[in-house]
This record gives sequence, structure tokens and C-alpha cells, in this order.
Amino acid sequence: MKDYIEKAMRTCSPGFHKELVGTNALHGAIGVATEAGELLDAVKKALFYGKPVDETNILEECGDILWYMAAIADHYGFTFEQAMERNIAKLKKRYPEKFTEEFAEHRDLTSERKALEGDEAFRRDQKAQMDAIKRGKSNADEPSY
Ligand SMILES: [Mg+2]
Repeated sequence: MKDYIEKAMRTCSPGFHKELVGTNALHGAIGVATEAGELLDAVKKALFYGKPVDETNILEECGDILWYMAAIADHYGFTFEQAMERNIAKLKKRYPEKFTEEFAEHRDLTSERKALEGDEAFRRDQKAQMDAIKRGKSNADEPSY
């Protein structure tokens, strides 16, 4: 299809709302994806090329992913502990006892969302931070390191 690019770009959003994300959050999100690719490459080398698993490299890439996750957590003002607690709360909603295909295929997304939202104080803090960013009264765009 010779005009694919033109047809595809018809659906491309012209917006770029950097003020809603912030430099560290964007840097972190991109970095998590790129480092996940490096982690996958380490696994690929063993799985498809029969090379020994380079556990040092896997540890390195996991650390790199954590670094980018720290940038995101710092930007939004949450801790890894909060993220871990919310993740476990969500998984308990999804799989009350243990993983089953049945629960995996019939997820209660509303219940999972409530588990992720957590307590009222955390939601208020998140809303206040987002409001500050939207008003441009935050230095969240500036790297803090
Ligand atoms: Mg890396």
C-alpha cells in the first residue's frame, strides 16, 4: 500500500502534553521500555542462540529498570513500597487464592482499580500533585539529581 504512511498519520494525535507528564516521568517511562528490551535481549541470547545465561547482565538490566522506575516514583511522589502494596492488593482481587486461567480470563477491572487507588489520603496527594503540575507551579520538570 503506497499511501500507508499518509493514511496512518491521519489518525496521529497532534498533541504533545509534556506539562501533564514531566521530564522525569517521561524519561522513566521510555527508559523502562528500553531497559526491558535489553533484559529481553539477554534472555533471547540464551533461549535462541544457546549462549549461557549472563546473570550479571540480567542483574544489571533489572537495576537499570529500577533506576528508571525510581525517576517515575520520584516524579509522582510515591514509594516502591506503595507500588508493591498496590500491586499485591490488585493481584489479591484478581486471584483471591492463586492464579487460575478462569480468574485470568474473567477479571473484575472495577474491583482491581479500587484496590490500586488505595486509601483516600494517597488519592488526595496524587490529585494535589497533578493540580500543581497542571498549574505550572511544580518544578517536577527539572531533574532532581
Ligand atoms: Mg541496561
